[in-house]
Amino acid sequence: MKIGFLGLGIMGSRMAANLVEHGHTVTVWNRSKGPEAALAGRGAEAVTSPAEAVKDADCAVAMLTGPEAVDDVLFGQDGAAQELEGKLFVNMSTVSPAYSRGLAKRLKEQGVRFMDAPVSGSKKPAEDGTLVILAGGDAGDVSFMQPAFDAMGGKTVHCGEAGTGSMMKMSVNLLLGVMMHGLSEMLHFGEKGGLSRQQLLDVVLGGPLSNMLYQLKRDMYLSDTYPAQFPLMHMDKDLGFVLETAFDTGADIPASTTVRFQYERALKEGFGEEDFAAVIKALGK
Ligand code: NAP
Repeated sequence: MKIGFLGLGIMGSRMAANLVEHGHTVTVWNRSKGPEAALAGRGAEAVTSPAEAVKDADCAVAMLTGPEAVDDVLFGQDGAAQELEGKLFVNMSTVSPAYSRGLAKRLKEQGVRFMDAPVSGSKKPAEDGTLVILAGGDAGDVSFMQPAFDAMGGKTVHCGEAGTGSMMKMSVNLLLGVMMHGLSEMLHFGEKGGLSRQQLLDVVLGGPLSNMLYQLKRDMYLSDTYPAQFPLMHMDKDLGFVLETAFDTGADIPASTTVRFQYERALKEGFGEEDFAAVIKALGK
């Protein structure tokens, strides 16, 4: 496939590299200069505007911070939308379902097909090509994208029409945010009562409460250093979308509401660029 790839951050750079690795023709663009050169070294073509990246492509894929970035890249100066008529735009960035539905409508008016396809999985699965892709859109478009999705992910779930991929992603990140805060709070609580972090983690990871997420974060908690795999500021953003979505649908989510406040606290303390497990550092402040 010929793919225009927009956004080469932690996730996008690795996903684009896997597309190249699997033989797709990939044209890449990133707002700040640097990441595109690394991709060019691996066989992608680097260009200087979003419009140029998608001009000769069969489809465009975006992996950007959130809705403002997607709007800028599509509709800003030299935006991709002007070159997308008759083509498919796949937004893999995490945004709210309401934003995805609105974008689908706006692009349809310009003759552009749309799919939201956010991902479950972080830096390592992005690197290994084992992300879970949560697609919302037309079944034919999902089949069309399957060779590209297979390069980036280990599993594709077609959730339904446009917006449902984002709804699934919000549901997953609600659980992720609450689980990470739950472990952080348990460690903080146990340490205040005189137990060591090592003892507490050994008990959690050695019993029925163990899971892959907690295993992945073990070394961060033990060393009390949190290099970003999934930046805390993104978790705060996503829980904001979760709250907005619950307001729209009437869902009752008291734990997520409280937990979002904790990520906001951590953000205000200056931990936004660190991994979201750094939410523990806001406790007791
Ligand atoms: P990141 O490393 O912060 O990268 C963000 C990308 O968006 C960069 O390429 C950045 O460009 C670009 N960007 C931001 N604002 C922009 C704007 N106004 N115009 C143009 N480009 C803009 O983030 P990431 O971790 O790769 O995450 C990307 C998306 O995937 C987010 O929606 C995140 O929630 C989601 N996600 C992340 C993870 C994870 O573990 N990291 C897991 C699942 C989903 P610059 O380089 O110029 O700043």
